[in-house]
Amino acid sequence: MLETRFGSAQLYETIFHNTRESILITDGQGKILLANKIFLAQLKLQEQEVTGKKLKEFVSPTHKIPSSFEQIWASLRSKKSWQGDLCIRGKENLSPLHVCIKPLAAPDPISRTLYLFSARDISLATDTVDRSLAYFDQLTALPNRFLFKKKLEHALEQGKRFQFNIGLLYINLDNFKYINKSYGYRAGDELLMQVSRRLETSARKADILGYFGGDEFVVALVNISLPRLAATIANRFLVKISLPFLVQQEKFNLGASIGISVFPSDGSDYETLVNSAETAMHSLKDQPEPENSYRFFQQEMNFDSSIRLRLESDLRKALDKEEFELFFQPIVNLKSQRISGLEALLRWRHPQRGLVAPNQFIPIAEELGLIIPIGKWAMQSACRQAYAWQLMGIDPLEISVNLSQIQFRDKDLLGKIKAIITETGIDPSLLQIEITESSISEGVQAAVAVLNGLKDLGVKIAIDDFGTGTSSLGTLKNLPVDTLKLDKSFIRSLPESSNDQAIVQAILSLGKIMDLKVIAEGIETREQLEFLQGTKCDAYQGFYFSHPLPGKEIAELLQNEILK
Ligand code: C2E
Ligand code: MG
Ligand code: MG
Repeated sequence: MLETRFGSAQLYETIFHNTRESILITDGQGKILLANKIFLAQLKLQEQEVTGKKLKEFVSPTHKIPSSFEQIWASLRSKKSWQGDLCIRGKENLSPLHVCIKPLAAPDPISRTLYLFSARDISLATDTVDRSLAYFDQLTALPNRFLFKKKLEHALEQGKRFQFNIGLLYINLDNFKYINKSYGYRAGDELLMQVSRRLETSARKADILGYFGGDEFVVALVNISLPRLAATIANRFLVKISLPFLVQQEKFNLGASIGISVFPSDGSDYETLVNSAETAMHSLKDQPEPENSYRFFQQEMNFDSSIRLRLESDLRKALDKEEFELFFQPIVNLKSQRISGLEALLRWRHPQRGLVAPNQFIPIAEELGLIIPIGKWAMQSACRQAYAWQLMGIDPLEISVNLSQIQFRDKDLLGKIKAIITETGIDPSLLQIEITESSISEGVQAAVAVLNGLKDLGVKIAIDDFGTGTSSLGTLKNLPVDTLKLDKSFIRSLPESSNDQAIVQAILSLGKIMDLKVIAEGIETREQLEFLQGTKCDAYQGFYFSHPLPGKEIAELLQNEILK
């Protein structure tokens, strides 16, 4: 491959492996044909783990990139090179890289075009210019998605600790596409730069600005005393944007649509907040005449007719397009502080919206009846994954899978679970099914029959979000349940709230009397954990120990546990 006109392939190979940059050669589908040693060393990967794989597999899915892969390859196919920031996932690390991909002239006219991927890991560089390449958009000089995410996540941690509000403004410019088309990209770029400067001068020092590409900007308003202040500030941005711009001696008028979400009421993590603000923005855009205005996110917006229709049609295809993923959250034994189980939590990786949380799509899937095949996929994948970890030498762990009320009422539920157990080889006593109180309270007779059927299969049963529903304790006594999962709403105000302390203690005592295992959900602080350690609680899960993580990262966590 490195045949040269000097006839010294060896010389070229030495150069290939000894530059400062990571280099890959890929084919037109992004399949890696060659990787240099710098790339392998940087990501702590072996050559055989890389060659033959698609480049896409190494791009971290948790860090949205400005352009989709399809856009990157489309721009490459038209013979242009592509430059930008990608976050590449190695064995143990993530590296933000500044990447340049170029088509290479084919070695001979018959063979396919090859692509040269060269990249610099800029996160480690001390050079501030290099650093800025990794984290800042080159055109607007604003933080890119990667840096914005990092900063907002940091602010969210502070917000949780010191209990302040964060407003998130998702800004989409009106008319921009028209200007770009009619006056050309240079005018468009100039306009984007001017918009960025206006946003910067209108923001407070504590606010976090970001540019998401295209005509989309974000601003996180850190520590606002009242959620509705986000509207006042959004208005200020709107006024600034609606003042005329002067570009290449032409006057332009722009407007914007701003979607607003607020921490903690609309979400407590980055993905949910951004998705919610984006949804609010789209609900404005979907109006026939989008006007210069803002709108707060409302839960019902997920059900807003046009957004809902789009989501519905995307959701119908999502299973076939393999867009679902499972994340896993460790359940930790309170005494030993070791991981005793994992809860499988469903995620939908939507091509445009990014990671969509289950609360945003499960209600729709339930209404459409799609929850039955989706739920089956989730259970199948969770069991397969659990069995695969066992084969990797990880001690068998209990795996919990959530079951929707609709699945619980499915006549063929037992048959489906039985088939999954047989097909995946999982030991049924390691499978725990989580059902909500409402699955039981609406039709106790039928519920008892299903629960007994599940018991006969050898699986365990947990009541999820316990304490929020209406199931009577008397009913619970007669059910073959193994575990209660104490809802996170009782944990939130611990240890300060003496009321919640009393409720938690009461539920724990009840659990013990009924010989049930109790797992506390939503442990976010050390103080909450310490409170539980003085109680009869058996296990806990929550952000304090670990957020839900993709399977790959959980495997690493479990392997580290073995070494402890
Ligand atoms: P759940 O079963 O009660 O799952 C726990 C939820 O609490 C998860 O939200 C998890 O990310 C979140 N959580 C964990 N630790 C903390 C914490 O310390 N603080 C806070 N504030 N939250 C924490 P997630 O993943 O968004 O799931 C939401 C709900 O969606 C689940 O609640 C479950 O009812 C449903 N769900 C998830 N996966 C599936 C599935 O495969 N099938 C069905 N039917 N429902 C699912
Ligand atoms: Mg659950
Ligand atoms: Mg729960």
